[in-house]
Amino acid sequence: MQTATRIAFIGLGQMGLPMATNLVKAGYEVAGFDLSPEALQKFVNEGGQAAKSAADAMAGSDVIITMLSNGKVVRNVLVEGKAYLRAPNGALILEMSSSAPEETRSLAEAVSGHLRVVDAPVSGGVKRAVDGTLAVMAGGADADFLAARPVLEAMSAKIFHCGPVGAGHAMKAINNYVSGAGVIAAVEAVLLGNAFGLDEAKVVEVLNASSGKNNATEVKMNQFILSGTFGSGFALGLMAKDIRTAANLSVSLGLSQQGLTQTADLWDDAARTLGGAVDHTRFYDYLKRQVG
Ligand code: NAD
Repeated sequence: MQTATRIAFIGLGQMGLPMATNLVKAGYEVAGFDLSPEALQKFVNEGGQAAKSAADAMAGSDVIITMLSNGKVVRNVLVEGKAYLRAPNGALILEMSSSAPEETRSLAEAVSGHLRVVDAPVSGGVKRAVDGTLAVMAGGADADFLAARPVLEAMSAKIFHCGPVGAGHAMKAINNYVSGAGVIAAVEAVLLGNAFGLDEAKVVEVLNASSGKNNATEVKMNQFILSGTFGSGFALGLMAKDIRTAANLSVSLGLSQQGLTQTADLWDDAARTLGGAVDHTRFYDYLKRQVG
């Protein structure tokens, strides 16, 4: 049982709640905060402590974990009003949201001299957050990454140190580009097969036994799309945000990448059309409307 570290966990949503719960199960003292009283109550039901504010959660915590929608929200919570100064000198921020790398570098600069930052976004979705088997892609100084590792291990099965601060967030955006492009391919494949007269479930079954399989065909198509549940727990607006982050990164590096640009445009248009709050697997509805 791990008991030495006190952790502030800010953002107890679809991902944050199960991740924070796994830290409690691992023996950490965890002070959680979320703007939603319901989310906070769920965490208390799981054995966590409810803080009155993000700043209160940070006071006396050696590790501060943020699991919020994007880097702007993270910055508002930590830097506006200088809330981060409530944390003890030398405490470690683990920025586990999917944020843009330049936002993370700017955050690290803003808190430098008082706090250390490791970006440690995750992949695997709600199911793997619950199971404690997420993949973590981290960015930060070697010593900070080593300090973060035991805490990350309580939430994940695979941890990668990708480079300095921002590298984890760059890797996460790159991953979600591949994931989002995979959803487009899988959904268009099913719609194409269906138009030809093939059974949708058969298309998925054959893809999953063949070279066309991807994450969407394996863990999304039957489970959330053809079943009609659309309940992956990952919002469409968050996916669109991540792919746009990758597209912006590409532009900032002077690259011209048409596949990425078109993938980002399609997801942004889907978010505008359906609203960002719907489950990202509703992308099926968006593409279905387009084929006519
Ligand atoms: P979510 O919307 O379910 O959770 C965000 C939580 O933050 C909400 O409970 C909200 O009330 C809270 N919040 C918002 N503003 C706040 C503030 N100022 N102070 C305190 N709490 C605040 O989102 P999620 O699906 O848990 O995703 C969180 C992050 O993880 C995002 O960056 C997302 O892109 C990323 N992510 C999500 C998944 C997934 O499958 N859902 C997978 C990997 C990564």
